Amino acid sequence: MNESNVTKTGRRRLLKHMNSCIPTSVTAELLHPFPPSRFAHEFTSGPGAGAQARSLDSNVHTLNIGIIGGGIGGVAAAVALHRMGIDATVYERANQLREVGAGLMLWPNATRVLKELGLLERVTAVSGPNQHFLVRSRSGTILMDIGLGHFEVPALCTRRSDLLDALISALPADRVCLGHDFASFEQQKTSVGIHFSHGVSKEHDFLIGADGIRSRVRSQLLGVHEPRYRGYTVWRGLARLTGVVSKGSNSETWGRGKRFGILSTGGDRFTWYATANTDAGHVDSREGRQHELLQMFAGWHEPVESLIAGTPEGSIMKNGAYDLPPLKRWGDGRVMLLGDAAHPCTPNLGLGGCMALEDALVLAKSFAQESSPELALRRYESLRRERTRHVQQRSRIMGDIGQWENLLVTAGRQMATRMLPAKLFEHNLKRIYSYAA
Ligand SMILES: Cc1cc2nc3c(=O)[nH]c(=O)nc-3n(C[C@H](O)[C@H](O)[C@H](O)COP(=O)(O)OP(=O)(O)OC[C@H]3O[C@@H](n4cnc5c(N)ncnc54)[C@H](O)[C@@H]3O)c2cc1C
Repeated sequence: MNESNVTKTGRRRLLKHMNSCIPTSVTAELLHPFPPSRFAHEFTSGPGAGAQARSLDSNVHTLNIGIIGGGIGGVAAAVALHRMGIDATVYERANQLREVGAGLMLWPNATRVLKELGLLERVTAVSGPNQHFLVRSRSGTILMDIGLGHFEVPALCTRRSDLLDALISALPADRVCLGHDFASFEQQKTSVGIHFSHGVSKEHDFLIGADGIRSRVRSQLLGVHEPRYRGYTVWRGLARLTGVVSKGSNSETWGRGKRFGILSTGGDRFTWYATANTDAGHVDSREGRQHELLQMFAGWHEPVESLIAGTPEGSIMKNGAYDLPPLKRWGDGRVMLLGDAAHPCTPNLGLGGCMALEDALVLAKSFAQESSPELALRRYESLRRERTRHVQQRSRIMGDIGQWENLLVTAGRQMATRMLPAKLFEHNLKRIYSYAA
């Protein structure tokens, strides 16, 4: 169907077709629809309580929102909207809804969102605790022990696939359309036509672009913004090891122009990451990634080498560290960005996915808190811009410092890290983690 066919009269037919988006590769047991009424109850007892009453009077329940991108941000947004009683459909270009990329940290600002979505218990059961963060030298000496403080919700380390499974479990199966590669959108007076590269078009009241750092929705909306390479490559993996790291302590080890992070994702499962200063588009060595990393981190404290050696070559992932300077705006009319599409950041604070979860909840609550959906989108954008700008900038600065290479400068950094009170960092981190979406 081409875009001219996306008319008001054809709308009912389109919606019917839309509802036939049954995912072929998502396992059926992950897809358990639930009644929106459960969500209404949860929101009435949460921070959006007053607003919930307003949403019940408004027409949000007739809204139909299209979301491009089935990553953490897009799926979380669909879950939050559904729980608000708003229909939302996710379009993902991949043929399988699968989150790759080892594990990730979920700080209290993110687990608070999971709690509101009713998913915290499920995610906690398959995660590792995160109570302390240690900064180490390459010999293993602890340079700083950062306590993560006490919050009403835990900080966790979770496998990405487990987080995505939990989110998908809260969405009706027919609201995830796989194999839909977004090509372009067309704003109309009362709707948005969405066109996919295989020739199919859909129509929704509003469109959310959650299609990641190289967002096509963003390019059409705001022009092309090429992500900026920040000078280093990040490798990631998952491995099983027994008894090597004390429970609840995760760590990052600093070398010269290199870092190695160890995060427990529960039991004997660990996720790790390694960074090294490289040109953009780093090419793997002929001997393979594992061999290259074992050489790069030879002589570092245990279990650095064991983790690399315990990760199958084919499962070691590699990304350049990219971000974008904060964008001046995220939306226009009926189209809005969310997650990495709106505010990609380098991974140094482990907050990109957490920000996407926050976005999702703030977006859903905004629909309840404003008198019109258009105003809701503006409210969401204005509530989120400053918060995400702050995180983008801090992540970049942390990465710059972490990747210092000069001998004298890194010796100075090591000394300063040992001498500085951990409380200084704890105070700053607390400000970030206290955020309630
Ligand atoms: C090395 C590394 C470590 C990290 N560690 C952490 C951490 O510990 N904690 C944390 O919170 N965050 C972490 N992050 C950041 C986190 O991974 C991202 O911020 C998060 O995945 C963003 O989610 P998203 O849904 O916005 O985007 P994405 O995860 O990029 O999802 C976008 C989705 O859109 C789909 N898509 C793209 N284009 C199209 C199209 N044209 N049509 C249809 N679908 C499309 C993609 O296939 C994908 O499924 C890390 C990132 C990296 C690189």
